[in-house]
Amino acid sequence: MSFFQDALAVFKKRDLLFLESYKESEDVYTFLFEKENDLSWIAGQHGLFTISHKKIKNKTRPFTIASSPTEKVVRITMRISENPSEFKKAMLELKQGMTINMVGPLGSFNLKDNGISLFIACGIGITPFRSILKQIESEGNGIDKPIHLLYLDSTKSYIFKDELDEIANNTSINVTYLDSRDDLFQEIDTFSTLNKGNGKYFIAGPRSMVKSVFDFLKSKHIPKKNIKKDAFYGY
Ligand SMILES: Cc1cc2nc3c(=O)[nH]c(=O)nc-3n(C[C@H](O)[C@H](O)[C@H](O)COP(=O)(O)OP(=O)(O)OC[C@H]3O[C@@H](n4cnc5c(N)ncnc54)[C@H](O)[C@@H]3O)c2cc1C
Repeated sequence: MSFFQDALAVFKKRDLLFLESYKESEDVYTFLFEKENDLSWIAGQHGLFTISHKKIKNKTRPFTIASSPTEKVVRITMRISENPSEFKKAMLELKQGMTINMVGPLGSFNLKDNGISLFIACGIGITPFRSILKQIESEGNGIDKPIHLLYLDSTKSYIFKDELDEIANNTSINVTYLDSRDDLFQEIDTFSTLNKGNGKYFIAGPRSMVKSVFDFLKSKHIPKKNIKKDAFYGY
């Protein structure tokens, strides 16, 4: 998605009808909204979501659309800790029939070609990869996709694990679950040695983690053009 397309998408506002929410793990919740027929996105993109059912101060946040467009629902999955922001409190108060406003879709964090790719998900950064992998699964062309997902979560509460395991079973996509940064760097090292600078690297998660992985890739002389980042600020 080009800057020009993003600029146009900013004018695309719509209200999404809330369907349901549920807990994925101790501090992660999923919210589902109706997907109208004329709404689509490229797997991996995000939207700007604005609370509209009550007045709060900072009422807009970006969230990845964690569903693939083929899933017929708009899913956002977010971390909500013990002391939630006003925005997240308002999310938890959503009831069936209420709406949230979405601007977008936005962003260029998506798979463009069929080359060898390493997906690096840090914690909640699994959301865009869920969307991309679900899309590949639904198109039924994951048999030859040379994709390896490294999923780091220090608390080992890997959300979407059942779905990811199913995708790994039905396609050639590999998933490795990790709980330490050292092990993550070791896996990245192995991948980059095997692929001799050919692979594409996709990193998503809290901004500090994305930066740390990006710096590691640079130290391994991975060209910047082979790295895509989706940095979630606010964590
Ligand atoms: C492209 C994108 C996709 C994202 N996808 C997800 C997702 O799928 N799931 C998910 O849980 N989160 C996602 N996020 C992060 C999300 O938008 C929120 O920032 C995060 O959930 C924290 O929100 P909060 O209401 O808890 O905290 P906040 O009240 O927003 O604040 C937390 C901290 O972040 C700082 N902060 C707030 N806004 C900014 C800003 N614009 N620039 C710099 N610092 C800021 C605040 O000062 C504070 O210190 C995404 C972010 C981006 C940019």
